[in-house]
Amino acid sequence: MMRQNWILALLLFVSLSLKAEPKVVLVSIDGVRWQEVFTGADPSLHQQAQWVKTPALIKAFQPGRPELLMPFLHQTVLQQGVAVGNRTLGSAINVSNPYQISYPGYQELLAGFSDPVIHSNHKIANPNVTVLEWLNQQPQLRQKIAAFGSWDLFPYILNTQRSGLTVNAGFMPEQGKLSEKQRYLNQLQAKTPSPFANVRLDVFTQEFALEHLRLHKPRLLYIALGEADDFAHLGHYDQYLAAIYRSDQFIADLWQQLQNDPYYRDQTTLLISTDHGRGEAAQWRSHGKSTALPGYKGPVPQIAGSEHIWLAAMGPGIPAAGVIRTDGSWQQGQMAATMAAVLGFDYQAVQPKAAPAFDFSTSVRLAVSDTTPTVTRQGL
Ligand SMILES: [Zn+2]
Repeated sequence: MMRQNWILALLLFVSLSLKAEPKVVLVSIDGVRWQEVFTGADPSLHQQAQWVKTPALIKAFQPGRPELLMPFLHQTVLQQGVAVGNRTLGSAINVSNPYQISYPGYQELLAGFSDPVIHSNHKIANPNVTVLEWLNQQPQLRQKIAAFGSWDLFPYILNTQRSGLTVNAGFMPEQGKLSEKQRYLNQLQAKTPSPFANVRLDVFTQEFALEHLRLHKPRLLYIALGEADDFAHLGHYDQYLAAIYRSDQFIADLWQQLQNDPYYRDQTTLLISTDHGRGEAAQWRSHGKSTALPGYKGPVPQIAGSEHIWLAAMGPGIPAAGVIRTDGSWQQGQMAATMAAVLGFDYQAVQPKAAPAFDFSTSVRLAVSDTTPTVTRQGL
């Protein structure tokens, strides 16, 4: 009798502990092109002296070897999950907003739809409720959502005044009761020069986020890396590539921390994407509307290719399909409903303007069978 009770208790314990509680981590890397993600350094840019001041910095990133530029993405995410956006393989995802710059991109990514009110990068408090704000209103997720960004616009994008979301972005120090690491990061951040006026170096965003993850265990964590886009605008192709490599390493470190923590291990979906693409060849530095010359009165042309983005995903229920062919183009706005769906919520039910969640299972049938880049594969 005693023995039977013990077995029942054990079964109950096992079934409770097996009931995984889903978590989501979204990482965006601002303004990184699908070309670098899937084909590595651009052969038309990587040796141009005007854009590469420090060739040694990018010597390791040979064109056609994307696994050298983003080893974690290619060796781990593409082996265990999916990626979309390699247009040479018929895999495509676009932004639907016509502006193809950052704030409209984050609006689409995080609220699920494009809004003409958000057409610039001006610091206006977002009138739209993002999926993060909505999820934070759900009793089981309250105060279990946090966002860390390098760009100082995120408190506006996520409307912290209204949403009450935990957001640390720009050059904000961490506040409240702090760990030793948080105090030290605050000191380092205040003493480190940034090349950019409103974007901090990504290492601070990353390290603040990892410490928050360890201390507060959010169910949804958003990390918005930013320096790649700014180095590109400065015309530093070497620094842009190095920033992409660092971003990949940051995600590898993040994934290791998640898998080392029983609260997250095997229960966490990792989503990686970007806010917009960039121009091709000589127009790689910019995106969206190109700047009109002084005195020019005509329409300002859109830089072709800025609408082309990419995504990668892995986690419970996501097939290990590598680069998947899309039937038409997926849309950036699908990310919001996808994050909600992973956590068990139907975002479209409350926000009909939002695009539907990505259906990663449908895509298995469309899997590109033998074109996933691997470490041993040369070129693509
Ligand atoms: Zn930009």
